[in-house]
Amino acid sequence: MDFEFTPDELLFVEEVRAFIREQALLPDAADVMAPDRDSDAMLADTPARRRFNREMAKRGYLGLSWPKQYGGSEKSGIYEFLLNEELARVGAPLIGKGVGIVGKTLIRHGSEKLKSEFLPKIRNAEIEFALGYSEPGAGSDLAALKVKAERSGEGWCFNGQKTWNTSAHFADWYWLAARTDPLAPKHKGISLFLVPMNHPGITVQPIRTLGEHRTNHVFLDDVWVHDDYRVGELNKGWTYISEALDLERFTIYPFSPLEVKLEQMWKYVRGVQRNGRALIALPEVRREMARIVAQVETAKMLQRSVIFSASQGGVPTVEAAMCKLYTTTLSQRMANTMMNMLGPDALLHKSCPDAPAGGKWEWVYRSSPLDTIGAGTSEIQKNIIARRGLGLP
Ligand SMILES: Cc1cc2nc3c(=O)[nH]c(=O)nc-3n(C[C@H](O)[C@H](O)[C@H](O)COP(=O)(O)OP(=O)(O)OC[C@H]3O[C@@H](n4cnc5c(N)ncnc54)[C@H](O)[C@@H]3O)c2cc1C
Repeated sequence: MDFEFTPDELLFVEEVRAFIREQALLPDAADVMAPDRDSDAMLADTPARRRFNREMAKRGYLGLSWPKQYGGSEKSGIYEFLLNEELARVGAPLIGKGVGIVGKTLIRHGSEKLKSEFLPKIRNAEIEFALGYSEPGAGSDLAALKVKAERSGEGWCFNGQKTWNTSAHFADWYWLAARTDPLAPKHKGISLFLVPMNHPGITVQPIRTLGEHRTNHVFLDDVWVHDDYRVGELNKGWTYISEALDLERFTIYPFSPLEVKLEQMWKYVRGVQRNGRALIALPEVRREMARIVAQVETAKMLQRSVIFSASQGGVPTVEAAMCKLYTTTLSQRMANTMMNMLGPDALLHKSCPDAPAGGKWEWVYRSSPLDTIGAGTSEIQKNIIARRGLGLP
């Protein structure tokens, strides 16, 4: 396995770092880059974030792997991965579902009308999407989704409820999976649609997460769109959803936030004294740090194996499941370790001036479980590893 990046790829990383340094000098930089906050800038909508995304568009960063005919650069997916790594390192918005899931699916399966309407807007950072997949009774078993799409004149009428739809409160368009054939086997009766979020039949209600992020319930009440806004073939939605996930495996879980957290842990254990000694002098702290360092390195290798497999033309389903399971639970283990080291003060919220490390670890402790649920829970990753990797029943 080759873990090294090519000179061209390394040059690109330098270019992105220079871009980030420039952006960091702007007056609204603190609103758009916050390494202490993890890479959750995607979950909020602010003028700073929109401006930052437009700057990325100007640099040609939105659509790096798209074909040239759609304004892309036809680079390998590794460039998108490298870009997201650098963005995640400083807590800036990542290139997200518009460029990835929506854009790449439209390029492969969308009509000319949908391509010409949406791709330029995605590339120019003029449009935001929410993914409407999960429902109260369909998360891990997504194919059980029930939101109904019924034929109505020249279009479709939608009714039902979605849940956990991140960005739905500010998105312009909804990437909606709905049941178009209730009689077909569950994986075969689903289609994908694009629906404007400002349709009067759509109601968005907030869900506040444990990690203080906002996600949403979405209710659809006789929402109508023209058949032109159906994506690809009727009843092929499940295939497109799965394919988009394969295309996105490069970029979903960046490694750099783990490196940043590790640096912050080092800073703390070297800088803080307890009973006249630096924390790092204590044997139990040294042992714990050694364990975490080894685990961060393991996470890096797991991620490199996803990239390597994909770069060889494979679909790294098992590698990606291992990587997702390991990195997201490692983030939790790091937070647990820091909560133990910080002692009782660790429970202080970031709004409290006395909170150690600005309350970062208390926040990570609460927000890191979310990553073990979104985009497939840890148990589902284990099932993938067991069945597809180990051939277990
Ligand atoms: C912060 C956040 C953002 C999200 N954003 C979006 C979004 O933008 N759009 C969207 O559509 N969805 C989104 N989701 C939804 C996410 O994909 C689902 O929460 C996830 O797939 C789990 O589904 P569920 O919540 O219904 O839990 P369930 O599937 O009901 O699972 C409950 C528990 O049972 C376990 N379990 C379920 N099936 C199995 C099995 N076969 N074997 C072993 N254990 C099992 C699970 O691991 C879990 O512990 C988001 C979720 C979160 C937390």
